Amino acid sequence: MTETPKPLPTHLQLPMVPLRELVVFPHLVVPLMLARRQSLQAARRASKGDGLLFLLSQTDGAVDNPTPQDFYHIGTVARVLQLFRVNDQTHKAIVEALSRAEVEKLGFSRGEYRARVRCLAERVTASPETEALIRTVRSQFFTYAGSVVTVPDNIVELVGIIDEADQLADTVAAYADLGIDFKQQLLGEPDANKRLQMLATRLEHELKVLRIQRDITDRVRDRIQKSQKDYFLREQLRAIEEELGRTDPGAAPHAELEAAIGNAGMPEAALAVAKRELAKLRRTAPMTPQAAVCEEYLQWLAGMPWQHRTDDNLDLDHAAAVLDARHHGLDEPKRRILEYLAVKRLRGQNQREPILCLVGPPGVGKTSLARAVADALGRKFVRKSLGGVRDEAEIRGHRRTYVGAMPGRIIQSLRKAGTCNPVFLLDEIDKLAADFRGDPAAALLEVLDPDENNTFSDHYLEVEFDLSDVLFITTANLASAIPPALRDRMEMIELSGYTLQEKLAIARRHLLPRQLEAHGLKPRHLRISDAAMVRIVEHYTSEAGLRVLNQRLADVCRKVAARLAPRKGPTAEAASRRGRRAAQSPSASVSVTVANLAEILGPEPFRNDLVDRRRAVGAATGLAWTEVGGRTMVVEASWMPGKGHITLTGQLGSVMQESAQAAVTYVRSHAAMFGLESRLFDAIDLHLHVPEGATPKDGPSAGLAMTAAVVSSLTGKCVRRDVASTGEITLRGRVLAIGGLKEKVLAAHRHGLRTIVLPESNEADLVRLPDEIRRATQFVFVREVAEALQTLVPDAIVEPRAAEALPATVAAAAPATLPAPSPPPQ
Ligand code: ADP
Repeated sequence: MTETPKPLPTHLQLPMVPLRELVVFPHLVVPLMLARRQSLQAARRASKGDGLLFLLSQTDGAVDNPTPQDFYHIGTVARVLQLFRVNDQTHKAIVEALSRAEVEKLGFSRGEYRARVRCLAERVTASPETEALIRTVRSQFFTYAGSVVTVPDNIVELVGIIDEADQLADTVAAYADLGIDFKQQLLGEPDANKRLQMLATRLEHELKVLRIQRDITDRVRDRIQKSQKDYFLREQLRAIEEELGRTDPGAAPHAELEAAIGNAGMPEAALAVAKRELAKLRRTAPMTPQAAVCEEYLQWLAGMPWQHRTDDNLDLDHAAAVLDARHHGLDEPKRRILEYLAVKRLRGQNQREPILCLVGPPGVGKTSLARAVADALGRKFVRKSLGGVRDEAEIRGHRRTYVGAMPGRIIQSLRKAGTCNPVFLLDEIDKLAADFRGDPAAALLEVLDPDENNTFSDHYLEVEFDLSDVLFITTANLASAIPPALRDRMEMIELSGYTLQEKLAIARRHLLPRQLEAHGLKPRHLRISDAAMVRIVEHYTSEAGLRVLNQRLADVCRKVAARLAPRKGPTAEAASRRGRRAAQSPSASVSVTVANLAEILGPEPFRNDLVDRRRAVGAATGLAWTEVGGRTMVVEASWMPGKGHITLTGQLGSVMQESAQAAVTYVRSHAAMFGLESRLFDAIDLHLHVPEGATPKDGPSAGLAMTAAVVSSLTGKCVRRDVASTGEITLRGRVLAIGGLKEKVLAAHRHGLRTIVLPESNEADLVRLPDEIRRATQFVFVREVAEALQTLVPDAIVEPRAAEALPATVAAAAPATLPAPSPPPQ
């Protein structure tokens, strides 16, 4: 940048140097490399004269010998300050650019370009806007220069001190990389403010692009660095594992998993999914949650027993022997199971059988029978309880999109079993119905339906798993509580409660030997007298099955083991490690008798005389059939002056409430039979209560007991409490059949009740009762309520013929005389 000594004439005829990819701006001194002959010639000619030449850019820098059409029409008048030779081909000219000029005419003669040009006068205005523009462009240029490497430091300094708008605009234009076209536009604009404006806009855009470019570069760099780091870490891990001798040096990551997938015997569809997931796992950065989820899933796929099966032993004699060895009695269930296995044997492997459902109260041997079936067949055994299952996902699993998702109970159990054909016990299928909310029953239908279960799909596993080889057995306490759709697909096998004699036999032959073994005792260590055993069953348990009895025997064994174990010396564990079963001295033994039973088991929780056998007013004994077997049940009735209301308490279900209403109506309509006046019922309130309110009760079979309690309460006559009754009643006084007779009779027997009033239509069911019970019990079969009341409240019936009177006449004009209030039930 130098001062122009004298102003240039407006029009000039000058030698011209064509420029490639370069625009030279006034106010600057620039070096030009001259390689073309015509350029050198022009520079020489200028040097010989006043030094002035014209610099004009080619529109296309690639053209060696441009014609006049190949140039922009605005260029720069410059003065050659120096011209020297660089090498044979190249000369260098240092030129000072003086003014922008417009081409008027362009010619080429004698190997040289010549141009007639008109100089363009600079227009500079000094205004606050100019100042603002100067500051803006300067600051933009600083930022720009900081982001690119092409701007020399001295130019940055120079821009920092230039105050003139035109000079600043040209300097910035010369050093910013803005493209030839835009630079030509700047060169063609003589107004400095406009040039600054153009520069500000353009630089803003450039800076934005540079910022984005930098962001992209940073991201790319980060990614490269991360993948380099991952690679480095993986290599290090591999080196460590190699050092520890854990892996094959050439093994690909997850090689073990790959081998497990290959060996799992998956069907093609599942294998394709597994391979796809494995590829995904290998692409995923290790130690990330995604990798963990993917790996866990593959472990599940590889861990499933797709083809691993056990061979069935269909020898029926063997099966019968296994069932007999483990179970006392249970003839009917055993026969049904053997028939089932016989059909299986005849039909062959691929035939579908219905599902067995073992129904009965707890502790009657359902699980134990199912386990014996598995052992007889030589199959693995798995058991899953459905109690409390209310969500389909518990059967079918959660989709993998959930964090912590798992397969459902079916798939989990099968993996645990390790074979695709185990015996699978689905426990408490009736509890599923009780808690039925989502659609677990529908999912279970798919599991159990032989037509569908070969393509069972678990939400987690996603691929289908064939369940058709699994032998499903279900259990339930009450068949009526099983959802009907499921019930239809099952073959019910009923197991009922045990009698005292059966319990004693099972305790001796099966439960006690197993408990002795479990507690490290030999038979000689513990003797339980017959009387003590009866006492344990009758006074320490009150159940249809054997669960509590089994626990009591375990309690006895534990206490005995504790008594026999020496106070010092090796522990039982240590002793058994040395080959001895327990640390008792061989001669020591404990005899359990009625006399020392309380010492061992504590006070008796159940008294056989729990049902108060004394005669009482307003209390009758009924029999109920619940999921834990049969039970006795006391029904109480009481009255007080009032307005004919009936109150029912004790958690009665709706059917039982209706039955209570029916009982009261019956008594009212047959008032004459009991010497009562029908009007009496309008002057009193009746209250019926069934104690043990915490146990919900339902069903119509307490009708007889309720009627007896009401009659007794109103007449003040005692009910025979040593007699139990069961039977549904109608308003006309008929007694209808009831269910669960066997369980109910067993319960009555357990409680020492030896007379039972029951519907005549249930007589046929007696054949199902064990002989000992039949012999020990007096059954009173009745068709009419009146007959039942003859046995239950014999003293209350004053006019037996009135039994047919329907309805009770209301004509009696005399005011009702209230009977004396009955004493509270005893
Ligand atoms: P459930 O599954 O019906 O509740 P379990 O099969 O668990 O009953 O039986 C409880 C206990 O009683 C088990 O130890 C079982 O072996 C035993 N048990 C039940 N019935 C018999 C029987 N008839 N013979 C021998 N043991 C029995």
